[in-house]
Amino acid sequence: MKITPIDVPGYERVAKAEDPESGLVAFIGVHNTRLGPALGGMRMWKYENEKAALTDVMRLSRGMTFKSAVARTGLGGGKSVIIGNPRTDRTPKLFEAMGRFVNTFNGRYITAEDVGVGIEELMSVRKHTRWVTGLSREQGGSGNPSPYTALGCFEGIRAAAIEQWGSDNLKGKVVAIQGPGNVGFPLGQHLVKAGARLVVSDVNPESVDLAVRELGAQAVPPEQIYDVKCDIFAPCALGGILNDDTIPRLKCKVVAGAANNQLLDENRHAAMVAERKLVYAPDYVINAGGIINVSLELEKGGYNEAAAVRKIHNIFEALRSIFETARRRGITTHAAAQEVAEANLAAAPAAASTTAAAAS
Ligand code: NAD
Repeated sequence: MKITPIDVPGYERVAKAEDPESGLVAFIGVHNTRLGPALGGMRMWKYENEKAALTDVMRLSRGMTFKSAVARTGLGGGKSVIIGNPRTDRTPKLFEAMGRFVNTFNGRYITAEDVGVGIEELMSVRKHTRWVTGLSREQGGSGNPSPYTALGCFEGIRAAAIEQWGSDNLKGKVVAIQGPGNVGFPLGQHLVKAGARLVVSDVNPESVDLAVRELGAQAVPPEQIYDVKCDIFAPCALGGILNDDTIPRLKCKVVAGAANNQLLDENRHAAMVAERKLVYAPDYVINAGGIINVSLELEKGGYNEAAAVRKIHNIFEALRSIFETARRRGITTHAAAQEVAEANLAAAPAAASTTAAAAS
């Protein structure tokens, strides 16, 4: 396998791996390990070219640094991407080669599931490195993170409701969920239990049917979700959905959902959302439940679900504080979240980046 280091300013270590025998072409990005080893998922995607894959690994690993800094997981930010079609190119050999690549980071990068990569693939990765999290409970891991992401998201919606309406009572509130999938569906369950009514859209008809049948949701076609008259818009599908086209169309008062990278142009679109007096829960704060859950695997004594759930409930207070800062200082909630992340990073002792301390 050929491993080529790539010098990227602001990133601790970025490398490319090429393994002709298995067909692997992949990148690992370690953005920052000031708060601990860099943990972030492994993504497989049909990138158009290597430049697109490298751009993605940089964007995603940087995002993980901020997410973990605010959630105080004791972890840094990293991510890996494999170029390939997850439908046709997922071979055990390819993921074993990826395991060898991950292992060259000696625990400074720790991997997990992400788009296109599931537990089966992680088991192949695991053959060549121990730096794998998110395996099933039977295999000693913390299991599927999605229900925990959904729980954190629900806590975040309660915090946003208090900010907008002075109460976290969701009875009768209408919530529009874009993408009732692995996170959106269990989020819908929490919301229905709290008395909310749901409107959903999804490009997958099966997800729509399930939400209609099980959650009593009303369905609308995918493009119409931005125009739905509702109290809360919960994006749980795609990134970049808060943009010049969609923000003026929104008929909600709160935007709070699990999708990553919701703001197409972070600062400008955060300002547009604030001008419309919408309460926006910064995505990497509200969707940290999954990383919090997985981070507990690295604690002394191993994974403990009760401890994970307790920590996920902190998302409520974290967002309350971010909303309060934004209001008091007249800055966007996105800017307030960035400040918290940067302050937590700056407060870390520089030596926290060694891997063994956090992982053993
Ligand atoms: P998922 O694939 O299970 O669900 C996403 C759903 O969105 C699917 O049902 C899909 O069909 C639908 N969708 C795709 N394009 C759409 C469109 N144009 N309009 C409407 N629906 C569309 O994924 P997930 O694991 O539930 O993750 C959802 C989002 O949350 C992603 O952005 C992901 O990065 C983010 N996230 C997930 C987790 C987690 O624990 N799973 C953690 C943090 C962030």
